[in-house]
Amino acid sequence: MAFDIFLSSPDVGATEEQAILDALHSGWIAPLGPMVDGFEDDMAGRIGVSHAVALSSGTAALHLALLATGIGKDDIVVTSTMTFAATANAIVYTGARPFFVDVDPGSGCMDPGLLAEALELLRRTGQPVKAVMPVDLLGRAADYTQIEPLVASYDLMLIPDAAEALGATHGGRAAGSFGLAAALSFNGNKIITTSGGGMLLTNDAALASKVRYLATQARQPVIWYEHTDIGYNYRMSNLLAALGRAQLSRLDAMMVRRAALRDRYKAFWADVPGVTIFAGDGDEHDNKWLTSVLVDPAQAGWTSEDLRLFLAEARIESRPLWKPMHLQPVFADAAALITGSSQRLFETGLTLPSGSVLTDQEHNRVFEVLVKFLESRQ
Ligand SMILES: *Cc1c(COP(=O)(O)O)cnc(C)c1O
Repeated sequence: MAFDIFLSSPDVGATEEQAILDALHSGWIAPLGPMVDGFEDDMAGRIGVSHAVALSSGTAALHLALLATGIGKDDIVVTSTMTFAATANAIVYTGARPFFVDVDPGSGCMDPGLLAEALELLRRTGQPVKAVMPVDLLGRAADYTQIEPLVASYDLMLIPDAAEALGATHGGRAAGSFGLAAALSFNGNKIITTSGGGMLLTNDAALASKVRYLATQARQPVIWYEHTDIGYNYRMSNLLAALGRAQLSRLDAMMVRRAALRDRYKAFWADVPGVTIFAGDGDEHDNKWLTSVLVDPAQAGWTSEDLRLFLAEARIESRPLWKPMHLQPVFADAAALITGSSQRLFETGLTLPSGSVLTDQEHNRVFEVLVKFLESRQ
């Protein structure tokens, strides 16, 4: 299906163009260079952590966060079932096994009460659990007020997947600043993009330097190529870091733009029975990355899939929420503690166009089509 209006496409313009040209003209074309250092400093300052390591993807950041903290064969990492596959894949890359926990139906993030149950169960049965990886779903930080002390009380490592949450806060602290290390993503549809890229954030200097080492082929500091570990080619290039710096300088403005669209969705859906806004409801500290609705077919008289098809017919993209990992064929055998909340979110949720690059005319077009859809259902 071809679309004219996308869910969340890259928002780049003159600032980004100039930044990339400047980096190109500077001669730093090879991977690494001053823009990588600058992007890391800018991001560490923004998030309030002492170290940031720019990487080729958010998945690479998750993978190296786990490897550098010593996660390996047969360890168990407890994570949220409602996420993008990259979270669980990174766990599997290390030889560890994911244990999926269901979510709080209000936020879509890991349910802290259920996490407590899972950790107790794992302890009682003597399982080798090492770390907990909450996911800051759709740009909203997980409930670290509860999760942080809980994970500490079991003497486990907290390694958040903050890939979607740059710009969000929880209790006045930035998403990405919680835990031993956290991962951000700058993939094309995230709130800022380097076309592809990610970053690892930590306050631990030794951990940061281990991640840099593993990300640059694990080269020993001698003049010939000497290796005592398996390394990876996971660093970000200088050109893409220039793009990232330009994007980060516009993050606040992009969040304002997304928030305005969300407010319009909120006003629109307020009077429609059976429809509630999902992201940001009761939490104004998310980054407004994506706005989704939950549709109760019994009340609304139609399903989220009816709406998706109608929008697609008008060349407007919308998409269901992440399909939970415990329902994915590839993770069918993984251990999990499930309430059904994530499955209900998957079955009733639909993410609407949310990008900061959308023009006022495009916003108007989306709402015209939404009005037509509701008329068609009367
Ligand atoms: C996008 C995303 C990732 C992966 O990031 P990439 O940069 O695409 O590798 C990981 N986890 C979550 C929750 C994501 O949304």
